[in-house]
Amino acid sequence: MVTGGTGLVGCGIKEFVDTDPEAQKNEEYIFLSSKDGDLRDMESTKAIFEKYKPTHVIHLAARVGGLFSNLKYKVEFFRENILINDNVMECCRIYKVEKLVSCLSTCIFPDKTTYPIDETMVHNGPPHTSNEGYAYAKRMIDVLNRCYKGEYGCNFTSVIPTNIYGKGDNFSIDNGHVLPGLIHKCYKAKQAGEDLHVWGTGSPLRQFIYNVDLGALMIWTMRNYHEVDPIILSVGEEDEVSIADAAKMIASAMNFEGNVVFDTDKSDGQFKKTACNDLLKKKNPDFKFTSMQDGLKAACDWFCENYETARK
Ligand code: NDP
Repeated sequence: MVTGGTGLVGCGIKEFVDTDPEAQKNEEYIFLSSKDGDLRDMESTKAIFEKYKPTHVIHLAARVGGLFSNLKYKVEFFRENILINDNVMECCRIYKVEKLVSCLSTCIFPDKTTYPIDETMVHNGPPHTSNEGYAYAKRMIDVLNRCYKGEYGCNFTSVIPTNIYGKGDNFSIDNGHVLPGLIHKCYKAKQAGEDLHVWGTGSPLRQFIYNVDLGALMIWTMRNYHEVDPIILSVGEEDEVSIADAAKMIASAMNFEGNVVFDTDKSDGQFKKTACNDLLKKKNPDFKFTSMQDGLKAACDWFCENYETARK
């Protein structure tokens, strides 16, 4: 059972399992949305577990948002995520779920840190104040994973993805992530015959993972990763790309022929947040990531074809 199964990551898992022979042959998947029940509420959560009796749970449901809503609603980000995570984890214990994989994020790492960041550094200092409500709530998943294992022998773990993009994303320009926002802006610039404006200098570096690759790796985690400690699911340090290069790839995928302009009066944000994927490479050395060109082409085509209904 996948909580939050209708979001960006859930869509990636669904696309992977729809063609994965092992999943088709031996596994049955349930993808939940908030319409199946509000996971902030224990009784609704219990009703879902009673109804589906899952043997394995991937927990994605969360209150997520961009920088401005994180800044403005710290209390709600903390409380709602704590409630959702507490209800899901406790139900996994009560209903004897064989394994739980929950989703953390690289933005929960300490603000002041050395690079590259790795799995051992999650609790080494306070997160950036802008998203402390979200970050502390997420960090408690890792704490509780170890507590549940120690006290009840539960098989709980978590993954830490870097920046995710793909079909089914939230393409909001004002409150979304960088790539879907740029895809939407590029679409509009093309329609209007205007330049594509990129906020900042374009020099910050990021690691981006295609949601179907993340889906495949989350299923791999469920089947093959047996530690309680989190694992970073990301492309390598050598695959970091600048925002400028990402914007040019989007322009190319959208067949945009105008100029790509950098609004250098807008803030750049953190220059880099490099994450180390050595643990993943050691445990799953043969995994092949989708190239950003191919992943962005798929995301751009999907956005254009689904413009009316896409989240934006
Ligand atoms: P989305 O916003 O795309 O999807 C969120 C999902 O959670 C939806 O299915 C939504 O249901 C569900 N949901 C939200 N609130 C509730 C609730 N109260 N009760 C039940 N279901 C609820 O999120 P993503 O797919 O982007 O994120 C999935 C996970 O990955 C999250 O835990 C997030 O923290 C993490 N993550 C995401 C990153 C990213 O770049 N997107 C980066 C790193 C980590 P509905 O569709 O009905 O609203």
